[in-house]
Amino acid sequence: MVKINILGVGFDKYSLAEFEARFLDRLRKKESTLVVTANPEIVMAAKEDPDYREIINNVADYVTADGIGIIKAAKMLGMKLPERVTGYDLFCWYLKVANEDHLRVYLIGAKPAVIAAVKEKIAKDYPGIDLVGAEDGYSKDALPEIASRIAQAKPDLVFAALGFPKQEKLLAILRKQNMPASMMGVGGSFDVFAGAVKRAPKAFQDAHLEWFYRLLKEPSRLGRMMVLPKFVLEVKKSKGQDKQS
Ligand code: UDP
Repeated sequence: MVKINILGVGFDKYSLAEFEARFLDRLRKKESTLVVTANPEIVMAAKEDPDYREIINNVADYVTADGIGIIKAAKMLGMKLPERVTGYDLFCWYLKVANEDHLRVYLIGAKPAVIAAVKEKIAKDYPGIDLVGAEDGYSKDALPEIASRIAQAKPDLVFAALGFPKQEKLLAILRKQNMPASMMGVGGSFDVFAGAVKRAPKAFQDAHLEWFYRLLKEPSRLGRMMVLPKFVLEVKKSKGQDKQS
């Protein structure tokens, strides 16, 4: 299927249900799969970092629109992405599947206390999961070293919560080795899952103001969020360029 190009990043046009069907199929066939859930910050980072862009466009198997900013950008460019498909929602869905199918799961990322809480919650709420690795995201080891540690555990699923681009760069090593697992970078999902960070209440989510809720809770994110107006400007500019060409 043709992808939707937003500032050089190709997005898949599937709904959440369509993504899930494809992911399930690949998981059951043990096909090596890398999923990137890309938000405007990731698109802007990929614009500046060719290696990162290469991973998203040519190593990842699927790219989802993580956030309303991406859906709106597609609209501005006269294209349509069906819906928001967030890393957190996919993470929870994968855990449910892993629990039912008794899969081997490897988790890497977040602070030691957070990963400990995640471990506890999985043991309690997802007893069918075989947790073959759970390490925090602050080891000093180089990414290839971490990757080989993960490969040795022979997981079916790997979730990396290291923030971008580190999480995708780590998983790309394993994807290039064709490790027979499904892998996804999940940003701050472990913090939310463990209850260390609250996800925005439904009203904020429905009003597409999740970002605003996060900003209220963590004002230090303001610097990071300044990339959002830049993203909108760049999308507008790229629209103009399309018209000229
Ligand atoms: N993190 C980590 N190792 C690092 C840097 C960050 O494990 O070297 C973790 C951090 O603790 C947090 C996650 O990566 O759990 C990134 O969260 P953030 O909210 O920045 O991600 P977003 O969801 O915004 O992409």
